[in-house]
Amino acid sequence: MTASAPITQDLVTIPRKLPDGPVNLVGLTRSQLRDTLLQAGTPEKQVKMRVNQIWQWIYQWGVRDFDSMTNLAKTYRVQLAERFVIDVPEVVSRQVSADGTRKYLVRIAGGHEVEVVYIPEADRGTLCISSQVGCTLTCSFCHTGTQKLVRNLTAGEIVGQIMLARDDLGEWPEQGAPKDETRLLSNIVLMGMGEPLYNFEGVRNAMKIAMDPEGISLSRRRITLSTSGVVPEIAKTAEEIGCLLAVSFHATTDEVRDKLVPINKRWNIETLLNALREYPRLSNSERITFEYVMLKDVNDTDADARRLVKLIQGIPAKINLIPFNEWPGAPYQRSDWSRIEAFADIIYKAGYASPIRTPRGEDIMAACGQLKSATERARKSRAQIAAETGLG
Ligand code: SAH
Ligand code: SF4
Repeated sequence: MTASAPITQDLVTIPRKLPDGPVNLVGLTRSQLRDTLLQAGTPEKQVKMRVNQIWQWIYQWGVRDFDSMTNLAKTYRVQLAERFVIDVPEVVSRQVSADGTRKYLVRIAGGHEVEVVYIPEADRGTLCISSQVGCTLTCSFCHTGTQKLVRNLTAGEIVGQIMLARDDLGEWPEQGAPKDETRLLSNIVLMGMGEPLYNFEGVRNAMKIAMDPEGISLSRRRITLSTSGVVPEIAKTAEEIGCLLAVSFHATTDEVRDKLVPINKRWNIETLLNALREYPRLSNSERITFEYVMLKDVNDTDADARRLVKLIQGIPAKINLIPFNEWPGAPYQRSDWSRIEAFADIIYKAGYASPIRTPRGEDIMAACGQLKSATERARKSRAQIAAETGLG
């Protein structure tokens, strides 16, 4: 059933409660869950215990129906089922790349779609999650930036991406089994669609749920939030989320960064670097990742590499070089491999780790900055087919 309340078309998050539908418990913080259970008639003296029980069922065991919550009285389970649901976004399609990368297209309220990517590696499994449908920013090399923002994701839709990936990976623990520390899904990067710091509350609440030790229990050090440089929110990220930070740096002069990452016109390189120097969690063990997309003849000279090293002097950092991932109509080309290596070498010799991010899942368009484009293409071809067959 569709909600009769308007689904907002701007940055306002849609209400959790549909006018005549049940409330989704996924995405509520512990205190919101407490208030919700109290409002639904849970006695005050029981509420703390009920929050703990329901929380564990949802986030530790991955249960999606109240009837399975066997440590709750039968009548209480019925009451809960009348008012609430435990909903995660629906997986519309799942593609698996030759290299094992999995890309999920998921549908959220209002019929919008976002993509979630799972990247298995030898020592970890990283889930790249989205924070918005589209993005308001317009970085010129990023395909997401060419799409009109529809809305922020709710906390439930953000943590729901982790839950649906665990469903697919079969990774909810057996009840009673000892805690398994080797996990298929061990790390989260907020590097999918959208600018996470323009959806601060949703992202913070979702990450708090993901970090809660009684549930998904991911360490804050296994979560990396990538921002294009929303300076006023950077310190808050350390204080209120506590995760690691990555910054889409991409250029060494304001002139070039203005073009690549237009938010630079608001907060320029110097302002951004000052905020990073003051990042409250900065240390050698918790370095800031500088993401740097390698664009042929745009930002990839030796002089750029030297300037970069000079600019970040004094900041515990690693530089993640990302070979540009092309998308249909993109106005840039990937730097040659030898250029990328020469660039990496200068940075490495200056004392910084400079890994080159191997493009993953290219055959399914799952690489950075490509999200959504395959879906849009698929849509177009469906439309073309309809036109050709006269079924449009
Ligand atoms: N909005 C956030 C997080 C999402 S983008 C941000 O900008 O940081 C995740 C990373 O992929 C960013 O560093 C982004 O600049 C990079 N990226 C975007 N499009 C890309 C492309 N086509 N090729 C390579 N990297 C890209
Ligand atoms: Fe948005 Fe990040 Fe893409 Fe820029 S790089 S348009 S901030 S998603």
